[in-house]
Amino acid sequence: MNAWDQIKQHLESKVSVEAYQNWILRTGFLGQENGVLRVSVPDHVTKDWLEQDYAAHIRVAVSNMALPIESVAYELASGQPRYTALRHDAQDGEEFSPASQLNPKFSFENFVVGSCNQFAHAAAQAVAATPSRSYNPLFIYGGVGMGKTHLLHAIGRALLRNYATMRIVYTSSERFMNEMISCIKTDRMPLFHRHYRSADVLLIDDIQILAGKERTQEEFFHTFNELYDHQKQIVVSSDSAPKSTPGLVERLRSRFEWGLMVDIQPPDLETKMAILDKKSESEGVDLPEDVRVFIATKTRNNVRELEGALVKLLAYSSVTGARINLPMAQQVLKHLNQNQEKRMSIDSIVRATAEHFQMQPSQLKQKSNERKITYPRQIAMYLAKELTRSSLPEIGRAFGGKHHTTVLHSVQKIDHLRAHDQDLNRTIHTITDAIR
Ligand code: ADP
Ligand code: MG
Repeated sequence: MNAWDQIKQHLESKVSVEAYQNWILRTGFLGQENGVLRVSVPDHVTKDWLEQDYAAHIRVAVSNMALPIESVAYELASGQPRYTALRHDAQDGEEFSPASQLNPKFSFENFVVGSCNQFAHAAAQAVAATPSRSYNPLFIYGGVGMGKTHLLHAIGRALLRNYATMRIVYTSSERFMNEMISCIKTDRMPLFHRHYRSADVLLIDDIQILAGKERTQEEFFHTFNELYDHQKQIVVSSDSAPKSTPGLVERLRSRFEWGLMVDIQPPDLETKMAILDKKSESEGVDLPEDVRVFIATKTRNNVRELEGALVKLLAYSSVTGARINLPMAQQVLKHLNQNQEKRMSIDSIVRATAEHFQMQPSQLKQKSNERKITYPRQIAMYLAKELTRSSLPEIGRAFGGKHHTTVLHSVQKIDHLRAHDQDLNRTIHTITDAIR
């Protein structure tokens, strides 16, 4: 393996999946002479990003692996165009290929449909079949690792197949922002506008990243209007509903609400089992029933974690040659047990709840009947009842001396609401995952 591929592998374990896809995946080894490693990058933004933000990671990788490298030189893949990410508009006749940005593994065929995601899946398929005529914009939201990026890529790939001439632009919101900043700096905004505003379909991932970034939201707002006015399809993903995304400007929020909003709920046990089946089948391994149940019940409700467990198990089995069975799975995946047995205290629940609602833990214990306090407090009480062995009076005392009937009322109320209110249901999952 060449030095850059080794460094890439190191980076893959250090940065988020999104960051890896955005900035690292499309770089390549060019050569290595006299301590200088030459690396090709697709565009200027990537170059800046690697030079500034990843320099430290790269230095660590070089020294960990004792590579004979003193510096890294990044070179634009195709030579002169200064902004190759927006190459569609460059004059050199070179085609910018959207397919290169879409992960072939993220297809509709590989997506397991369960009750938690069937609506989002159906809407995504409708858009891929008849863009601009089904739902516009389509807004897909849900927690981390629920398959949002997977669906966006699947839409893109299906469109490429169905409509060969359509211009499909997929971007992460982070990339949108960085390209915008770079184009402002280099006086190339017309290029930026052309790139995004000439799309037939714009797929933009993780819009919550733009929360609080008003200049970028304004830019996106104009992009949105331009596309929408010309009946171009827009698909947006986010980790929460527009109304529960603080820092999203009102006019964008209302635009998103014009179309269809669909959410993806955390996968239930059945869906998790089906996903394990599909993944192990595609890896060509036969997972014993008890091992499947073990992994599905011990992972939290997050597909990424589920996949991580399976990958670890397969790697262990292939390295040691051992057959996969339950004792081996329990040994290799023992961290999953700690996952569940992690000590939950009322304090840790209060902290996680307060953090989620962006308030101080002490506020949850105040005497106050304001809804912005009582609602999070009811959720925290509910979680305390569900996740600890504390009695109702104990919980009452921990929340500033509430009567045990008040606690009971809160627990019942949240329990009831949660059955119908999917946003609340997700909030509860998110807080539970965040308890430390
Ligand atoms: P998100 O963007 O919502 O954080 P991703 O789309 O990145 O989540 O999904 C995380 C991982 O889980 C990916 O590898 C994806 O392929 C997989 N995944 C998520 N949901 C499903 C599903 N329903 N069927 C198959 N794989 C899934
Ligand atoms: Mg994602």
